[in-house]
Amino acid sequence: MIHDQADYARENGAVHEPLLSEKGEETVDVGDASPLPDELTREDLTLPNPSEPEIARHYTRLSQMNWAIDAGPYPLGSCTMKYNPKFTEDVAADPNAAVHPDRTDRSVQGNLELMYRLQGFLADIGGMDAVTLQPPAGAAGELTGILIAKAYHDHHGNDRSEVIVPASAHGTNFATAATAGYDVVELPSGDDGRVDLDALRAAVGDDTAALMLTNPNTVGLFERGIAEIADVVHDAGGLLYYDGANLNALLGRGRPSDMGFDVMYYNVHKTFATPHGGGGPGAGPVGVTGELAAFLPTPRVRETDDGSGYERFEPAKSIGKVHGFQGNWLVLVKAYAYIARLGDEGLADAVAKAVLNANYLAERIDLDVPHGPFHHEFAATAGDRDAAAVAKRMLDFGVHPPTTKWPEMVPEAMLTEPTEIEGKSSLDDLAAAFNAAYGDSDEALDDAPNRTAAARIDQVGAVRNPRLSWRALDDG
Ligand SMILES: *Cc1c(COP(=O)(O)O)cnc(C)c1O
Repeated sequence: MIHDQADYARENGAVHEPLLSEKGEETVDVGDASPLPDELTREDLTLPNPSEPEIARHYTRLSQMNWAIDAGPYPLGSCTMKYNPKFTEDVAADPNAAVHPDRTDRSVQGNLELMYRLQGFLADIGGMDAVTLQPPAGAAGELTGILIAKAYHDHHGNDRSEVIVPASAHGTNFATAATAGYDVVELPSGDDGRVDLDALRAAVGDDTAALMLTNPNTVGLFERGIAEIADVVHDAGGLLYYDGANLNALLGRGRPSDMGFDVMYYNVHKTFATPHGGGGPGAGPVGVTGELAAFLPTPRVRETDDGSGYERFEPAKSIGKVHGFQGNWLVLVKAYAYIARLGDEGLADAVAKAVLNANYLAERIDLDVPHGPFHHEFAATAGDRDAAAVAKRMLDFGVHPPTTKWPEMVPEAMLTEPTEIEGKSSLDDLAAAFNAAYGDSDEALDDAPNRTAAARIDQVGAVRNPRLSWRALDDG
């Protein structure tokens, strides 16, 4: 399979890189110095034998076969691919940053202080009273938030079986509610792309445990009726859960707690410029109002009674652990460094630029963009063209395309989030690529992309039948 791609890439002048083993191998005698049992060892080993420059070129070329935010804009709506500043990597790479998680509180006071401060930063940002840093990803933070809501209802003897999720919500919201054991009630969107209050009133009741809401929602629209939405849910005895994936639109300017949210998660890889983990390691801290604080996972960090330092503790009615130890510590170090460096003004400024960039780009493209004005992202429609084909063609113009065909409330959606990191010329390039691809011939769209290492990948096959080792290539 890789050889087909190689031929394809060679014909089209795209980057191609063979496996190191295809470039030449050498058999080395490994001797018998190993303390391992004989049946687990071998006498000799066949290894690639590249020189240092060959290795450097190999990995540089491999990195060019994929798209990277270091190489160009990456406007994936809802996924928020921001540039990850190198200084946060430097901080996390400090040998003193990594300590064994089993060490005693007294011997890791600096680490505990950082966690304590980060809990405080996040609590301030969300207007929440208490924060856990433990969940290892956004979706894990979601599940933690809903498990906390469940523990709260159980504690108060409320038997509630339903969680309401708007149709426009991210798939993880539905999965979270179902995984936590709830029946999922899907809420249709109103004509303006927002929550339909009448539909919400009809959906809530004695069985409502929570409403899960993303605000601004997944097409970048602020829920103008949020105060009323909160009242409807609270009057029915339910809790309001905030999906923090879109906090990029609010940071330092609006707080979920002021809108009536009781529990929220923060997506550090979307909002606080830590790398996307490909499913992990990431972090999805959870913040709650005071009445839910006792249910947070253990351990959290607090100041000692005598004020001399910091200690880990277990909240009184904790739901337990949702990950080992404190969560993915070095990811938290990066989030802390980013927030500390930007400060209040820097964060609020990043939000202003993210919103400005999205609205500027929406104006510059030829595609129709329903609804608006937007916050940090917008869903353009490719109309009678195939959004996925337009996206593939954009790759030929040197930019990564947006998220396609989601959310479904916008037909042939191209959900676009330029983020605050792009300057005007980069946004203009993006708009030019959008317009060139959208206006191109059917044949050009069918053929695209032509300038990438691989063209139309079998996406379903890649998910259902992954071959994760080069050895699997030999099996056909
Ligand atoms: C990305 C996203 C999530 C899930 O976050 P992960 O860290 O990828 O698990 C949840 N909700 C929304 C709206 C998102 O965009």
